[in-house]
Amino acid sequence: MNFHTKAVHAGDRKRPGPAVPVTTPVYTAASYRYETSAELDRVLGREEAGPSYARYDNPTNSALEELVAELEGGYGALACASGMTALQIAIATALEGRPKRVLAARAVYGATIILLERVFRPLGVEVEWVDVYDLDGLARKLESQPAGCVVMETISNPLLRVGAIDRIAEMAAAAGAALVVDNTFATPLMVRPIELGAPLVVHSLTKYLAGHGDVLGGIVVSDQAHYGTLRALARASGPLLGPFESYLTMRGIKTFPLRMERQCANAVLVAAWLRGNPAVERVFFPDDPAHPDAATIRRLFPAGLFGAIVSFELRNADRAAVFGFMDRLKLVVPATSLGDVHSMLLYPLMASHRDIAPEQREQMGIRENLVRLSVGIESPGDITADLEQALG
Ligand SMILES: *Cc1c(COP(=O)(O)O)cnc(C)c1O
Repeated sequence: MNFHTKAVHAGDRKRPGPAVPVTTPVYTAASYRYETSAELDRVLGREEAGPSYARYDNPTNSALEELVAELEGGYGALACASGMTALQIAIATALEGRPKRVLAARAVYGATIILLERVFRPLGVEVEWVDVYDLDGLARKLESQPAGCVVMETISNPLLRVGAIDRIAEMAAAAGAALVVDNTFATPLMVRPIELGAPLVVHSLTKYLAGHGDVLGGIVVSDQAHYGTLRALARASGPLLGPFESYLTMRGIKTFPLRMERQCANAVLVAAWLRGNPAVERVFFPDDPAHPDAATIRRLFPAGLFGAIVSFELRNADRAAVFGFMDRLKLVVPATSLGDVHSMLLYPLMASHRDIAPEQREQMGIRENLVRLSVGIESPGDITADLEQALG
């Protein structure tokens, strides 16, 4: 089935199984009754598929999980309460039965750094920050000491570096480690890391997949080998998305490919416009032929799709000047998120990377004058007109 067709059909309109919810759908029921205790026994023993208790399975969530697993080319998925909790359980899954050492890309979402430093490290997991864009260096790190997993983003936040997921997945697997990819920025319309050899993929559903700024959610998609562990850990810790959020996310995904194509096309236009504006010092966007990962982008991205995040530096701007620019925006929403239908602008220093130590931020190349624009589905001329009046 074609990607666009899957977005509308996969996971939906299933014939109801033998179970009847104890309470009424959107499947809010906490438990399910079966005709016979023998049936319930088989379901609880996982000899037969079916819902039994909401922490194990929920039919609304199962439909969403099937849909996203289809879009990502995975075996199964787990819908979670947030992108961060999805990442947490994905990393825990990757580390089961493997050395408790994580090699994590230095260029990642701020909360991912905090998750590894404040949740995993105190539990005895070794965390090492690495440059995943230096394949030889990464190979040496993998060889020097056994690692359990490598964590990276398809398109890094906010500087939009693009790693060679296919090569890194192969190197990690050869060293006995599992690659965990946060695919939030690229989305499965552009890149499907499982098809490139990564066993575990994570999304913040909050962003492009749900797409309308009304859901906080995350999802882990896994290959067959890791699916059993993923579900077992979820049964133990219950990091699940609520069924209403699942419903909203499925509703959002119906138009996700259309929204994303439009957002990607708009982003190319906005990036080109920004490059020509004297108030802008530097533009970060993957369509740049001089992008440090241009060869990887050509290999992994479909033609013409570069994502819909454009980061840029304001010329000679300090924190106060960036605040002034943000306060003058009338259409672009200066708020903390991305991937919504409306354009949004975020100041990493104030939001996503606020809790990162200045030296580490400096090392990451995130300067005081950097902003991150999430391009929406509006008419592109209206987006650039708003940026122009706000740039002054
Ligand atoms: C937003 C985001 C997350 C965290 O997702 P939440 O849904 O906010 O928990 C993780 N990774 C990336 C790349 C994100 O943009």
